[in-house]
Amino acid sequence: MSNEESRPLSPEPSGPLPIKKLHESIINRIAAGEIIHRPASALKELIENSLDAGATSINVTVKDGGMKLLQIQDNGCGIRKVDLPILAERFTTSKLSTFSDLSRLTTYGFRGEALASISFVGHLSVITKTKAETCAWKTHYADGILVGERPGQSEEPKPCAGNDGTTLIVEDLFYNTPTRLSALRSSSEEYARILDVVTKYAVHNPKVSFSCKKAGSPSLDISTPSSSQIHNTIKLLYGHSVAKELVHAKASSISKKGEKKSDNPEAWAAEVYFTSANYQAKKMIFLLFINHRLVESPRMKRAVEGVFTPVLPKGSAPFVYLSLLIDPRSIDVNVHPTKREVHFLNEDAIIEKIADGIQETLAAQSNSRSFQYQTLLTSGVTSSEASSRKRKGKDRDVDEEDHEEEAPTPRVVPQKTASQHKVRTSQNDRTLDSMFPVTHGSRSDSTNKDTQGGETAPRPKTKEVKESECFLTSVLSLRQALVKGKHKLLTEILERHTFVGIVDRDRSLSVIQYSTSLYLINHAALAEEMFYQLGIRQFGDFNRLKLEPPPPLRSLVQIAVDYEDTATHSKLTKDQIVDKIVSILMMRREMLSEYFALDITEEGNIESLPLLLPDYTPSLDNLPNFLMRLGPQVDWTDEAECFGTFLRELALFYTPGPPLISKSPDSPDDAQEKAEKWQIQHVLFPAMRRYLLAPKTLLDHDVVQIASLPDLYKVFERC
Ligand code: ADP
Ligand code: MG
Repeated sequence: MSNEESRPLSPEPSGPLPIKKLHESIINRIAAGEIIHRPASALKELIENSLDAGATSINVTVKDGGMKLLQIQDNGCGIRKVDLPILAERFTTSKLSTFSDLSRLTTYGFRGEALASISFVGHLSVITKTKAETCAWKTHYADGILVGERPGQSEEPKPCAGNDGTTLIVEDLFYNTPTRLSALRSSSEEYARILDVVTKYAVHNPKVSFSCKKAGSPSLDISTPSSSQIHNTIKLLYGHSVAKELVHAKASSISKKGEKKSDNPEAWAAEVYFTSANYQAKKMIFLLFINHRLVESPRMKRAVEGVFTPVLPKGSAPFVYLSLLIDPRSIDVNVHPTKREVHFLNEDAIIEKIADGIQETLAAQSNSRSFQYQTLLTSGVTSSEASSRKRKGKDRDVDEEDHEEEAPTPRVVPQKTASQHKVRTSQNDRTLDSMFPVTHGSRSDSTNKDTQGGETAPRPKTKEVKESECFLTSVLSLRQALVKGKHKLLTEILERHTFVGIVDRDRSLSVIQYSTSLYLINHAALAEEMFYQLGIRQFGDFNRLKLEPPPPLRSLVQIAVDYEDTATHSKLTKDQIVDKIVSILMMRREMLSEYFALDITEEGNIESLPLLLPDYTPSLDNLPNFLMRLGPQVDWTDEAECFGTFLRELALFYTPGPPLISKSPDSPDDAQEKAEKWQIQHVLFPAMRRYLLAPKTLLDHDVVQIASLPDLYKVFERC
């Protein structure tokens, strides 16, 4: 037991004890305990040091909840060799030299106490290298000073191999303060706190890549990319459910006209990201950074939480990330640097204004809730005769209410079944007019955009399909492959082309013009590639195409399997094949939903499909086939392969094919044909212009130059 713990709690009855000055190392140890409460608080200081050092990558390794080992590696500026001897002394800092600096300091810790404190309560080692140095230097510290690695060894810094930056290793934290050690919780709880600190700093520093893992574990528990954006980092760390409801607000002191920002010590600015009323957590998640330090302010928390009380159901709470910048002059500098609770000038007024800002945004937001999906009606999807008859009856009276081909609308309009929404249950049941929504009545032959969205609503502008932020290496490599495989000229041709016409619909051939050349292209092949790329582009963040009512997966797969001629090359019965495919998909429901917006209910009904392109509805005729193929065609064992093959299948499903079946009595073929052509010209080609990174392979079969004006001139000149 250490000395301070063995002191008697009350004086001996025989009389007062003599007053003795505590030994300095004990004073330091007590002081250290005030700063470093637990592994997570040590880590917080170390992360701040790394950020101060300009690191863009911070990797944390932990053993036993940080009690055994806490290691943080950064790629910051490093520490000069000459500074190493005094690094862990108290009040040594590179960040402060005069008192007036103290009030202007914007870096994190600023009193040079963190490393000293750590060296008093744990074994501290440092490996560091500056750019100027040719090798790294390794040192060990105890009680604020340099020591040898083992007793009797030289305390001089030892040269070693290492990258630019600093690695700090803290071992056996609190080994000499048993009370502190025993106050700690289980190592898993301490680890959870460590993860919490890393997570929060990662959100606040989206440009810096963070990782955190247990020593010896091959997997990272946290991993963020560098140069990301706050929204994306929040999504990565707190999940899609938080990120999709995230709203952003700003508040600040209004500076008087002509006044320079820096002139006013009372100036402040706050940025808040918080979830709308659609998100409800059990406990409030509150990240508060003041001047880039993670702090606590119960008053601020209460005020912010109060804003949500009227809009959230009882017992639920929001996610709030708040970053407040205040002039350092108005922060109470006498507050201990590691004290997480802070006080600052005009606290009440600032808190009130921030809360007001959140409330305004929240109010505006809840008035215009937006639903990011389209609804597709699928009544009577199973193969019963009755339902298909009923469906036909319904189709007629809803044609004029046909909204589904609009881009995702701000509100979900209840819809009845339209023929193009049907899932046909057998190949014979196909009606060609259901292939594309634009075939109805007078609209079918029109190329006027305004008539396409139905009479009731003006057609909204096509929304930009944004690239989702995704950090899975598999997806990133798929994206890189697209960029790498891009053929520059072909992409430019498709970007800038003028559409000439469809020359052979059955063979999916169109002609486009670029500059002085004409090209014959296979638009189905190009569309398939584009849909594949749109899939990769929106990975993990698809809008949803809702199916209403949700058709049963099993029946759809059954339809496709029945239609396939599998008997010849499979030992399994058709039912067994269906079972197998259904169970593959059911097993991966969660993944399919999260990554691909393919929602399958527990009962096995398909609620939604990913919406690859606004304004474009794939033909549900192909849905059974698509679902069936997911079984055998997708490589479910390897992540990258799985995503790639799934998205290929999805693209195939979306690609308009040649007419699969001959004319149907109630849908004249020419109307159908016109509709399809319209869709190809006005939806697919414009989308290709925007999104297709044309790979070289398309040049093999799918794009052929058929004429060039200069060459034609030459021909004519000869004539
Ligand atoms: P403070 O951060 O308050 O200055 P610390 O005890 O945390 O005090 O750190 C002391 C000094 O050590 C810092 O001022 C800085 O110069 C140097 N230092 C600590 N950690 C790092 C690091 N990861 N990279 C570069 N320098 C560091
Ligand atoms: Mg510090």
